[in-house]
Amino acid sequence: MTFNRVQFFTPLHKILLVMASLILAIAVMMPSNQASALLLPSLSINPETSVNTRQPLAKKEPLPQSDNKKQIQWQVKLGDNLSYIFQENGIPAAELQEIMQADTQHLDLEALQPGGRLGLDFTDNNTLSQLTLYRDPARKIIYTRQSDGSYQHQKKQAKTHWVSEVYRGRIEGSFYLSARHVGLDQSQIALISQLLGYQLDFRRDLRAGDRFTVVIGREMTDKIATGQTQVESVSLERRQRTHYAFRFKGHYYDDKGISVTPAFLRWPTHKRFRISSAFNKNRLHPITKRRAPHHGVDLATPVGTPILSTGDGVVTRIGNHPFAGKYIDINHGGSYTTRYLHLHRIQVKRGSQVKRGQRIALSGNTGRSTGPHLHFELHIDGQPVDPMTAKIPTAAAIKPQNASKFADLRQQQLAVMQHATSNSGLQTAQKSRDF
Ligand SMILES: [Zn+2]
Repeated sequence: MTFNRVQFFTPLHKILLVMASLILAIAVMMPSNQASALLLPSLSINPETSVNTRQPLAKKEPLPQSDNKKQIQWQVKLGDNLSYIFQENGIPAAELQEIMQADTQHLDLEALQPGGRLGLDFTDNNTLSQLTLYRDPARKIIYTRQSDGSYQHQKKQAKTHWVSEVYRGRIEGSFYLSARHVGLDQSQIALISQLLGYQLDFRRDLRAGDRFTVVIGREMTDKIATGQTQVESVSLERRQRTHYAFRFKGHYYDDKGISVTPAFLRWPTHKRFRISSAFNKNRLHPITKRRAPHHGVDLATPVGTPILSTGDGVVTRIGNHPFAGKYIDINHGGSYTTRYLHLHRIQVKRGSQVKRGQRIALSGNTGRSTGPHLHFELHIDGQPVDPMTAKIPTAAAIKPQNASKFADLRQQQLAVMQHATSNSGLQTAQKSRDF
């Protein structure tokens, strides 16, 4: 039997084995624990899809002796991680530590995907001057070396606009399968289930023939889709009544302007802990003694304190960053995302749906930290805001001063849902996502 098994090692397996051994060898050669933590993101890459899209390696050439500044464009492939890419390009590991330090407040570098692209710029004496991460067709992240050796993080975004697409279907079997059938993706279906889940029971209340219509916004550059989408409105027609959710100012409301999901919690803990470090755009960092933004609040939670999701949402990322420690990102559907750092134990999985107030982790002291605490962030439309003072949907209904704006939006969305005839045509162009 063992003899037969040998034959299962196809050339593909051999390539994968060699690459795995290489990665291991590099991991062993790395001097610190932090370096091996950096290797983790690559392990989640699926070899099936990556091998097919593999791009030629950036050529490893001797560093030029001339005065020419050098730029390398690196296609990310299976097994790549920053430690390896830096080593291949002769960049000292210390530079990576500085970049990871600058990334702590953003956590952009843990999402290296095969097929993605990095830019490496060098000065004329072969010192790295800039690292560019191309996120999607509209976004890039730039880390620029400063005179003191630290790096500055910058996010650049091209102008985009949103177009609306209408998807309609009938229930045959489960809502999930019916929605997949018309082309909605898993995260869109998870969000819709969450938005309407307080009005009806998807298992018990739906009948064959019930109809649904979903308007999806798709972000575009001048020419191409960036891959970002959002659910703009949903209607679900049963025999007795129709259920609605409309996106308005980053949150979802029914046709009467009542919030379809519960209001957000202000605190991610059962009780209020001392704020050991406040949200601050220009904080003097306690360890590095450098000025850097502090994009969240630090709560003085002892290790093991239960951490709660502040709103209904879906877990989009779980990671372990050398400086931020174990962390969780939750997308709350509309404009809102939350982030929880330095955790001791994570109690949810990537892709899990969570409810407001649900325990997601135990707080800890992981990553680089001055002591046990929870670092908690709230982002609105991708921008970090002070979670203690930001305007969050804590009220259950549209405010009276927004009533007529909401009525306009509802009318426009209902018209799109009713008059659109196909589920593939681009119907309307929205000028801004916040309407
Ligand atoms: Zn913090």
